[in-house]
Amino acid sequence: MSKLTQAELDSQAGAQQTDTAGSGTPDVAAGKLSAVFPSYARYDISLVKGKGTWVWDDKGNKYLDFTSGLAVTSLGHAPEKVGAKLKDQIDTLWHVSNLFHIPGQDRVANLLTENSCADQVFFCNSGAEANEAAIKLARRYHQKIKGVDRYEVITFEQSFHGRTLATLTATGQQKVKEGFLPLPAGFKTVPLHDLPALEAAIGGHTAAIMLEMVLAEGGVLEVEPEFLNAVVALCKKHGLLLIVDEVQTGMGRTGKLFAHQHYGIEPDIFTLAKGIASGFPAGLMLGKGYLRDAFSPGSHASTFGGTPLATAVMAATIETMLEDELPQRAEEMGKYLTGLLKEKLADCSFVKDIRGKGLLIGIECQSPAGDIVLAGQKKGLLFVTAGPNVLRLLPNLYVSKEEIDQAVDIVSELIHTYAKQANGEVSS
Ligand SMILES: *Cc1c(COP(=O)(O)O)cnc(C)c1O
Repeated sequence: MSKLTQAELDSQAGAQQTDTAGSGTPDVAAGKLSAVFPSYARYDISLVKGKGTWVWDDKGNKYLDFTSGLAVTSLGHAPEKVGAKLKDQIDTLWHVSNLFHIPGQDRVANLLTENSCADQVFFCNSGAEANEAAIKLARRYHQKIKGVDRYEVITFEQSFHGRTLATLTATGQQKVKEGFLPLPAGFKTVPLHDLPALEAAIGGHTAAIMLEMVLAEGGVLEVEPEFLNAVVALCKKHGLLLIVDEVQTGMGRTGKLFAHQHYGIEPDIFTLAKGIASGFPAGLMLGKGYLRDAFSPGSHASTFGGTPLATAVMAATIETMLEDELPQRAEEMGKYLTGLLKEKLADCSFVKDIRGKGLLIGIECQSPAGDIVLAGQKKGLLFVTAGPNVLRLLPNLYVSKEEIDQAVDIVSELIHTYAKQANGEVSS
């Protein structure tokens, strides 16, 4: 089935997924265990092709993709302009060591620093690695530049910062820590929006406060602006660095190039990954100029960070986003999408809240909503959850009104049906 030609895939496009029970990976179908570690709970779909907002599975079924690889393919699947730059670079130079100058890094760093409050950029390969770099930079700034014994990072409950040992310790969710003890020292987590708890957590060893502007994995929860202002004030008062994790919220997703720009604040450090390179693996840690000397030669490194290939894709992605004013588009389309959802679900008491920023949108339900995601797949729409009760919609930033109309029709119908069933069960 995976040998289908393009024409065959196209001719089958739109066919509904009817019977996939018991399929999955070929190995599983043959009764053997997959050679891949089972660390992901995977949906029973194998995606093999994508274009714009659409993806196809190995059976030729076509889906409207409102996941974008979890906020990664923000220019849509296989964006042509970026693809052309990638192909050019493939014929030119893939990789050289960071022992040499890499002109693509300066290009990307200039684009990002000209469009943000940051002055310096470090190149790595993922969100977790970017957050590790942020934590390391904060510690080293205090210890080497300021000469003080500060190392502790304060984070918030329901946050998500990654899966390395340090970043899962920073993450405010118990489930990512189970079975991985002992955790590294130097982290404290306090409830979000609890100012007294935050103040109480700050001590002589505190180096930084780290947070997301919208807790995406934690249920699409926006940080209250007043609380954010209080965090900024506490950082100033105690000499702490403010680290904003923009791995999911960055690169136009929320309606500004970086989500912190909605609030008029300037973090000392912020991190990027998901949407930065259209699906090519890359992460970035950005910081203010006064942090520059904390990462002196030899202090931190990454073999694959900012290769010629990665920086070509990043530069093309960023340039395309700026040229086509995609953050603004995300803002407009986000308003359109949430407006339609609110209209269609106004009478549905199963829906507790519809919220979001730009095209990072959450629908909070009264009870676990994972089954709605599975039902959506059968109707040809892909979306995900954010915690058990919240449905999360993350279309690419070029998504059209027609595609949004289609998706909202499917989602609202599914929720209405599911709500009726849930009510039926309660009353019977
Ligand atoms: C996805 C994510 C990460 C981790 O990124 P990886 O590339 O998977 O390591 C960190 N922080 C936030 C907010 C994320 O959404």
